[in-house]
Amino acid sequence: MLNLVIFGPPGSGKGTQAVKIAEKFNLFHLSTGDIFRANIKGGTELGNLAQTFMDKGDLVPDEVTIKMLQAEVEKHPEVKGFIFDGFPRTIPQADSLDKFLATRKTNISNMLSLEVEDEELLKRIILRGKNSGRADDQNEEIVRNRIKEYNTKTAPLKNYYLQQGKCKIILGLGGIEEIFGKLCAAIETVV
Ligand code: ADP
Repeated sequence: MLNLVIFGPPGSGKGTQAVKIAEKFNLFHLSTGDIFRANIKGGTELGNLAQTFMDKGDLVPDEVTIKMLQAEVEKHPEVKGFIFDGFPRTIPQADSLDKFLATRKTNISNMLSLEVEDEELLKRIILRGKNSGRADDQNEEIVRNRIKEYNTKTAPLKNYYLQQGKCKIILGLGGIEEIFGKLCAAIETVV
């Protein structure tokens, strides 16, 4: 299996690139943000719970997120691999993912880290909020909190994967196709 993690701050272009990577390398795109939003829309218990955190720009608790992620992976036993988008976002999530994949006789092949400066992120997200209508994209204070959550809880994961020798750093500035080209080149080195 080829299992990739696409990693980067909110607004770094993870979702856009993950869709393209999934198509090119025939992987299943698993976005925790999309799954939470679908649950919110469907009014499920999970959605109602996640919404209380997402509305503030806080991370959803690990216990809830990990359980949901594992259930999603188990729903797709036939796939050739996954691209995880928005997961893991904390060290406990990364630990649980490694252990969980090991029980399924597989592992993370590599992590792709998209790097973009904070002020550029803020600009992109506010612009996206105008078009997408995503509630957590519309308010500068919430966006700043998401970036803060990223810097304190998620950014340390880069070292986690670096220590495993599984981290490729890609500059997330430039056009979508240009960045996609760089990501593909990085992936080709591990397939
Ligand atoms: P972005 O990367 O732009 O913040 P996402 O769609 O990936 O957008 O995530 C939106 C929100 O969903 C996050 O701010 C967080 O509240 C919640 N979320 C998504 N993935 C996770 C996760 N792995 N752990 C905790 N919360 C998550």
